[in-house]
Amino acid sequence: MTRFTKITASIGPSSESKEVLTNMIKAGVNVCRLNFSHDTGDIQGAKIDMIRSISAELGKPVAVLIDIQGPKHRIGIFETENHYPLKIGQKFILDSDPTPGNETRVQLPDSDVMRSLSVGDKILLNDGKIELRVDAVFDDKIETTVIRGDEIWSRRGFNLPDTDIDTEILTPKDKADLEYAITKNPDWVAVSFVQRAEDIAFVRDFIAQRTSHPIKIIAKIERPNAVKRIVDIATAADGIMIARGDLAVEMPFEQVPAISRQIIRECRKLNRPVIMATQMLSSMVHSEFPTRAEISDVANAAYLRTDATMTSEETTIGDDPVNVVDTMNKILTFSDMDTIANPYDWSRIENVPENDWSRSVSSMAYLNKVNAIVVFARDTDIAIQISCRRPDIPIIAVCGDQVIANQLALVRGIFPIYDNYLFGQRDAFNSVRQFGIGTGKLVIVDDDKISLRTLD
Ligand code: PGA
Ligand code: MN
Repeated sequence: MTRFTKITASIGPSSESKEVLTNMIKAGVNVCRLNFSHDTGDIQGAKIDMIRSISAELGKPVAVLIDIQGPKHRIGIFETENHYPLKIGQKFILDSDPTPGNETRVQLPDSDVMRSLSVGDKILLNDGKIELRVDAVFDDKIETTVIRGDEIWSRRGFNLPDTDIDTEILTPKDKADLEYAITKNPDWVAVSFVQRAEDIAFVRDFIAQRTSHPIKIIAKIERPNAVKRIVDIATAADGIMIARGDLAVEMPFEQVPAISRQIIRECRKLNRPVIMATQMLSSMVHSEFPTRAEISDVANAAYLRTDATMTSEETTIGDDPVNVVDTMNKILTFSDMDTIANPYDWSRIENVPENDWSRSVSSMAYLNKVNAIVVFARDTDIAIQISCRRPDIPIIAVCGDQVIANQLALVRGIFPIYDNYLFGQRDAFNSVRQFGIGTGKLVIVDDDKISLRTLD
């Protein structure tokens, strides 16, 4: 039994002890996500150290993924602690005045946002339960009408689905977080609320000015303008996260599954891994078992041949994070094995040229019914490219560098081994033996040499 779809686990209060984290990694976690919207600084640093030491003890490559909060916008405070009910049809004003608000107005502290709004734009609060429509824009205030009403509270975050927000991708908090995080050499950094390829270039430059460590960047897709620019953003980034939480607020929710499929397709063509995120097993915050709908959601991520799934609250504040990982592992493993039992036709890979070498590797493996593809990985590119052709055959990546092994832990179907000796030997038999493959055929990829080998 093999699992191709990787598991990303968000780490929080329920999963921070060494014992729990060790058991989660043993149960199948490939990527640990540390969310800087919550803890920052040394508290996160200590978790990174712990993940590294468990990974070393178990001899299992694990990717550390830092998640940066990004420009999440909030309204100001109200006159009393109380909330105010906003009624459909009433007028409501957002202005630059820090005086506490009431049922007619509240501060909008961000001048970038104020400047970016146009007449007709939607402003969503409370996960979309409140909808305001912009009627008029002035230098220091925005007049709106309430289209959908609910209680409004101090400091609530809001979403602007129609607006290209003219703001820097990293807030001062993000810069401080990233500045700290990169001292801990994370494998991947995820950036929230990306709107354009330039945002990724900005973050890449910010990192490059501070470290020469090869940190990979994931663009979180959670805004309509990012969906529209997915090809440019994915080209600029090293990977993509389908951040369904905010995406389902900013887009009509019924479109999220279709958008997810489209993102996975585009990213495969561009050789970029994709993480499917948010609410995959949320009921397991308290429940021992997933709901039927959650089982299907996780299985569908495997059938869509996503690179990785992700857990959220169920592993950060849930009652039993190890059980969550165990459950996800079971569903993904069964679905991935079902995909192999009912093979996919490799030649259907769209828009990859016939003579593309990674396609040749994939078709050679498929037509010869090999047990595994063995890649001697000097960098991550070759292994990722082969994975993106989705050969549905294990790709054993023999890495002479721990960082490459950790980064590849996130990528579909790749089984990274960090072993300098094996890497130096370039002996495919030694490399596959530890995966229980004794006989049969292998495709070996070593630099630009592709060969077929039979083990007896
Ligand atoms: P978040 O991102 O948990 O940082 O908001 C994921 C999402 O929006 O789905
Ligand atoms: Mn989000």
